[in-house]
Amino acid sequence: MKNERDQEHITVAQLSTENINSLFQSALDASISGIIITDNNLPDNPIIYCNKSFERISGYSRKEIIGHNCRFLQRDDREQKVREELREAVKQGKPVNVEIRNYTKSGELFWNELYVSPITDDRGQVTHFIGVQNDVSARKKAEQELRMERELMEEKVKERTASLQLSEEYLKSIVETVRESLLVLDSDLKVLTANEEFMRTFKVNRAETINKKLYDLGNGQWDIEALKELLEKILPTNNPVLDFEVQHNFPHIGHKLMLLNAHRIELEGTYKDRILLAIEDITDRRAIELRKDDFLAVASHELKTPLTTIKGYIQVATRLLPKKSDAKLLNIMDKANVQLDRLNRLIAELLDVSKIQSGNLEVHRDKFDFNNMVREAVDAIKRATDSHEIILSGRIDRSYVGDEAQLSQVVNNLLANAIKYSPKAKKIEVSLSVISKYIKFSVRDFGMGISLNDQKKIFERFYRVRHIQHQFPGMGIGLYICEQIIEQHGGTLWVDSEIDKGSIFSFTLPLDTNETG
Ligand code: ADP
Repeated sequence: MKNERDQEHITVAQLSTENINSLFQSALDASISGIIITDNNLPDNPIIYCNKSFERISGYSRKEIIGHNCRFLQRDDREQKVREELREAVKQGKPVNVEIRNYTKSGELFWNELYVSPITDDRGQVTHFIGVQNDVSARKKAEQELRMERELMEEKVKERTASLQLSEEYLKSIVETVRESLLVLDSDLKVLTANEEFMRTFKVNRAETINKKLYDLGNGQWDIEALKELLEKILPTNNPVLDFEVQHNFPHIGHKLMLLNAHRIELEGTYKDRILLAIEDITDRRAIELRKDDFLAVASHELKTPLTTIKGYIQVATRLLPKKSDAKLLNIMDKANVQLDRLNRLIAELLDVSKIQSGNLEVHRDKFDFNNMVREAVDAIKRATDSHEIILSGRIDRSYVGDEAQLSQVVNNLLANAIKYSPKAKKIEVSLSVISKYIKFSVRDFGMGISLNDQKKIFERFYRVRHIQHQFPGMGIGLYICEQIIEQHGGTLWVDSEIDKGSIFSFTLPLDTNETG
């Protein structure tokens, strides 16, 4: 009985060992890693075992694998450095972990992440190696793509850096060539760069300038509250500082008038937190301008006095002429009178300019009929010209308080220009309207028109459009005076124009601030 039981026990034990072996076998086959065992005691360390995954990964069948040295997986890709590492580890009987390029039976590359562990006997001799491998091609591919992308990026960065360096050099050469003092400031208004012209103008050196706060330069010449406010707004709002004048007693160079312009610099996304500050010494220019203005005031005044006298004499002479005088003589006196009036107007305009310049243009505010004033101006022009038909439309349904003489001067000027600058056209349209709380007056001609660029400049004093200035008489001050007069009345004057199509000069005058009757 005991024997029987022992026998049965042994059978169970034997069965268990077999079972366990087959369980191990199944476990190894179930692994997603490829597993091989090589026998180090046999020549050329051949593979004596491989699991299912190894067959799957390599594409070879068990019978094509068993007995081979592992190197067949590398085919002729033998120059891989890791092979040496692998060989060395095997030689020394050490574990090793490498990533090696292997090839499937069909010749397809796969990256094999290989762990090799030696198995030793009681004497420490390596009897076997176990190789566990995983196909990491997908990861490798991703890594490689990432690397390629990085290399591409680096290449691009290199190119960008080179082109930035080029543009920086380019900018630098511009900055050094410009005959204006230039400072580049950071967001704290600290000076990052200053050009040579800055050093020359302010007689300072780099040590006194670079890395210093703008407000600490010199004797605090730029430490001005209003300027500070503007400069500090540049970066957040991108609103430039335009034509800011600073009058100051500067160290080394004395009393000067400087004109400041500042902009945010943006170089294709780089350097966007920088400010370029341009400083121009306009002391001499302003002095010359003032002298010119003085000359204008004196000359126009001096010319006006004898002219008024001559006009008086001509009037007296005309009156003294006998009633039956020669028609020719009367005609000459008439012409002299017309030319004197013209001269008088020109001089009056020059005087106006000098009055505007010195802030002495007085505006009288009286109630008057705007329609009447315009009608009279239109009638006067109609009498003087038969080249154009002048069509007046619309009316103002209330009276206006302002300087009638000055506003009539504006209307006359705009009408005269419309005729002068549309010699081939036949028609001038004048319109009057009340829009919202404004009077609107417009003169439209169908003449030569004004380019966009010139439209910005024609309201400056003495500006005349270049290519026509010899063709038409004029001093380029009419529109300047008009704009000033309209501005003094709280209104705006502007032009809409297209070359060869004509121009519309319009002004509006506010009624709500006006005591209308
Ligand atoms: P002026 O007529 O004496 O030159 P203005 O100040 O009146 O001076 O005008 C300035 C310039 O604007 C003129 O020289 C002319 O070039 C241009 N301009 C003015 N009015 C017109 C217009 N209606 N059509 C075309 N150009 C005009």
